[in-house]
Amino acid sequence: MPFSNFGLEAEILRAIQHAGYVRPTPVQAAAMPKVMQGHDLIAIAQTGTGKTAAFVLPLLHRLCLAQRQGQLRGIKALILAPTRELAVQIVANIRSYGQHLPIRVAAIHGGVEEDAQIKAIRKGVHIIVATPGRLLDLLGRQKLEFEPLEVLVLDEADRMLDMGFLHDIEAIVTTLPKRRQTLMFSATLSKAVESLARRFLYQPKMVQIGKRSNPADTVAQCVYEVPTHLKNALLLELLRQPKFTKVLVFARMKDGADRLTNFLRLAQVKVAKLHSSRSQDQRMQALQDFKDGKTQVLVATDIVARGIDIDGVSHVVNYDFPVNPEDYVHRIGRTGRAAAQGDAISFVPKQDLNLLDRLELFIGQRLSHKRLRGFDYQAPVPAPTPGDKLPRRDWRKRTRDMEQRLSDRRVDR
Ligand code: AMP
Repeated sequence: MPFSNFGLEAEILRAIQHAGYVRPTPVQAAAMPKVMQGHDLIAIAQTGTGKTAAFVLPLLHRLCLAQRQGQLRGIKALILAPTRELAVQIVANIRSYGQHLPIRVAAIHGGVEEDAQIKAIRKGVHIIVATPGRLLDLLGRQKLEFEPLEVLVLDEADRMLDMGFLHDIEAIVTTLPKRRQTLMFSATLSKAVESLARRFLYQPKMVQIGKRSNPADTVAQCVYEVPTHLKNALLLELLRQPKFTKVLVFARMKDGADRLTNFLRLAQVKVAKLHSSRSQDQRMQALQDFKDGKTQVLVATDIVARGIDIDGVSHVVNYDFPVNPEDYVHRIGRTGRAAAQGDAISFVPKQDLNLLDRLELFIGQRLSHKRLRGFDYQAPVPAPTPGDKLPRRDWRKRTRDMEQRLSDRRVDR
């Protein structure tokens, strides 16, 4: 079925053609007619399958009609996303699909000066893409008016409705008109979150592409059983193989990401890092350098796991095994996007084997185990040099670690 069958405005079809899309992806084919009919919707589809266009194209069409009728005034749509990077990416998509339309969009998120954002709102915008924290700040100071709003979208809805964000989302939704269209898009959606989601929706239609929480079929997955002290060496060996051209490496904690980045840098690997303690400029730069191929490796925390679209990621490496199976699904979805092939590799030290069991139950498949030929898996733990501190997990460190992990879940204030 071609895009022209949806009845989209000609300016939008022109932009789609310009983007090189020949036919709608399955989630677009299933979701767009329902969205265009004005229904509320829960859409579950694997990550990288074209979810953004599935809600942006009908939204632009609606605004186009409003403009024809002289009704394009005020903020008509709010799109909420869990991370700044995802918000920025959605804005870029809207600008691209709406390049022939007089529709203005603004991003509202933390990590940058708010003045420019307030100025953009004052000038008049029709779509706001926001992370919850900064938006609530501005709402609290009456910098925004959602009276004309018609559409609310929650992207990565499962993350938006988990405990880190739920209160913020509830507070935001109370400021929106009750009569509106609400759309939720997510790669995973547990039954518990689904019942929460229904509080915000009116008789929603449901679209589900593929099996719930099943990682993209185009990603080949395997694990390397490796002791913690050999993870760095194994990663370095893998990175030296020619196939590892664009490698996204996930660490659990920010300081772990910092240490790994330093190690790789010393080993002459072109590497950048991205986590929530870095400034917004540093975050955008790290992402851009990786997208442009200036760095071979991007070391990141789960902040990058959701929705971020990077072309041609050859490998995702779970340097630290994810604690939540959902995070695993999101992480590996950064490769194998838009039907490309991708590889996902997970390092599993003995103490994480229980996490692997849980994951395999969750995704309903066993992962194959690999060993790198010639790699010395028996190498001893290096003796501490005099300046080294022995690892000690005292309570203060544990508290700090937990705080970091929690703040990484709520990343974008
Ligand atoms: P998303 O899941 O929205 O992040 O999209 C994943 C990737 O698929 C993006 O790079 C989009 O540009 C691309 N994409 C979206 N829709 C289509 C389509 N109909 N045909 C080809 N590529 C698409």
